[in-house]
Amino acid sequence: MGRVTVVGAGVLGLSCAFRLLEAGHRVDVLARELPRETTSAVAAAIWYPYRAWPQELVLRWSRASYEALATIAAEDPDSGVRMMRGIEVVPRRDALPWWADAVPDLAETLDVPPGFDGGWSFTAPRVEMPVYLDWLVARVLEAGGTLTRLNLHGLPRTGDGGPDAVVNCSGIGARFLASDQTVHPVQGQVVLVEQTGLDRWWLHSEGAGVPTYVIPRSRDIVVGGTDVEGEWSRTPSPDVAASILRRALRLVPELAGAEVLGHKVGLRPARPEVRVERVGDVVHCYGHGGAGVTLSWGCADEVAELLG
Ligand SMILES: Cc1cc2nc3c(=O)[nH]c(=O)nc-3n(C[C@H](O)[C@H](O)[C@H](O)COP(=O)(O)OP(=O)(O)OC[C@H]3O[C@@H](n4cnc5c(N)ncnc54)[C@H](O)[C@@H]3O)c2cc1C
Repeated sequence: MGRVTVVGAGVLGLSCAFRLLEAGHRVDVLARELPRETTSAVAAAIWYPYRAWPQELVLRWSRASYEALATIAAEDPDSGVRMMRGIEVVPRRDALPWWADAVPDLAETLDVPPGFDGGWSFTAPRVEMPVYLDWLVARVLEAGGTLTRLNLHGLPRTGDGGPDAVVNCSGIGARFLASDQTVHPVQGQVVLVEQTGLDRWWLHSEGAGVPTYVIPRSRDIVVGGTDVEGEWSRTPSPDVAASILRRALRLVPELAGAEVLGHKVGLRPARPEVRVERVGDVVHCYGHGGAGVTLSWGCADEVAELLG
């Protein structure tokens, strides 16, 4: 048991902090952006292993996170996590998706809007991120952890008055904090529209890979998305928003006439492989691409194990 500094207050930093507190460590979280200002706050978010590798580890971490999120949903209705059935529209269903093992109730469905052929129906944890991040912060503070805004120019030094260990959950910031040029942004834009009574999520990836998704939350609906490799801008584009809404309307015609409430852009921390690795007194945990929420608890468990 020791003093651990966690760098980053997105979904990874807070999940790791909580697991480490549960394991008996003293934990201080330092972050330039507080939870509601992070990429994590922009996430749609449903459980779905997307743009994260390697597949074998991603499947293991996704499965663990599915179970952990299902438990949170069952135990605390105020957590922002809800188990919600939805449909991924896919043209060909001759083989099960590679992540099928992690989902208990995957089934083929033909209950799709006109112009689509069919898809996979399954229950996924739906995570209302602003609510969930607040919930995670409350768990961390309740367990004795701290959260402080701090812009770091390097990872904190261990020993000699510093912490015993550092956990690096800096997302895209790892490009600088860990001098890791393989971490790069994959920009995603979403539109928030009013809740029209929708109670299932929809997902569709076009041929070129641009995802369209519609994720209902308690007071609004997140409509996405885009996937722009290497783009650092966080400014929403009106043209992109219009094209997102056009695609979404095809997928969910009930959205017609829904009032637009806002626009958000986030930078997914992409990397050829997610990095969960101990190097001396530092455990790196970043590069979760489009699946940080989906992988969060599986990775946090592993970080806690790496620190003993
Ligand atoms: C539009 C969109 C939709 C998405 N939808 C989903 C989804 O449905 N499901 C899903 O699983 N994932 C989704 N994602 C992906 C998900 O948001 C990310 O994988 C996840 O947020 C990464 O979390 P993180 O904690 O690693 O990073 P972040 O949330 O970016 O947090 C990084 C933290 O590190 C801190 N930091 C960085 N540099 C420094 C520094 N120098 N000093 C101090 N602190 C620093 C930051 O301030 C921040 O607190 C989506 C992403 C986007 C953009």
